[in-house]
Amino acid sequence: MRLVLVGPPGAGKGTQSEWIADRLSIPHLSTGEMLRIAVSEGTELGKLVGERLARGELVPDPLVVDLVDERLKQPDCVGGFLLDGFPRTVEQAKMLHAILEKRKLKLDLVLQIIVDAKVLTERLLHRGRVDDTVETIENRFWVYQTETMTLLEFYREQQILRTIDGDGTRDEIANRIRSTISNFSSTNIN
Ligand code: AMP
Repeated sequence: MRLVLVGPPGAGKGTQSEWIADRLSIPHLSTGEMLRIAVSEGTELGKLVGERLARGELVPDPLVVDLVDERLKQPDCVGGFLLDGFPRTVEQAKMLHAILEKRKLKLDLVLQIIVDAKVLTERLLHRGRVDDTVETIENRFWVYQTETMTLLEFYREQQILRTIDGDGTRDEIANRIRSTISNFSSTNIN
């Protein structure tokens, strides 16, 4: 299965992605994680994007698309993959579509996790990542509202978007994701 998980900062994308990817035996591809690794290793890419990550701004589309394109060429992605935090803009979504089309593939499902903004800020401030400051959180919410909401419209039109209520415990959310995936396709997820 080829899946995308979309949600605001603090929606639990990382945790849920790990779980889904494990259950479906597909790789979990987090662009945020790839970029953080590049920054901590001080690679050329890391030097280019470090400031933006620290400010909670999006990295330019071509940089992040190249990263994903390279990763999708790896043999472990043949049987499917779960993208976490990518695409984040309509432009990225179009580029992803083109990458997949070249390989005669398309996305199966886009899951959007919805959580109340107050709950999100609480969660983020407890997480303690370097880009989890009050100011950066605000910026990332703003970015999400402006960029990512149009992205969702794009996928809604393609009728592959499903929403997940992200309020509740980790297991409750996982259960909702499980039934959404099972209902959407004939894929069983335990
Ligand atoms: P995340 O771990 O998904 O919250 O991403 C952390 C940070 O990495 C974001 O605030 C952006 O600076 C950057 N980032 C991650 N994914 C993308 C993307 N698809 N496009 C642009 N920037 C991204």
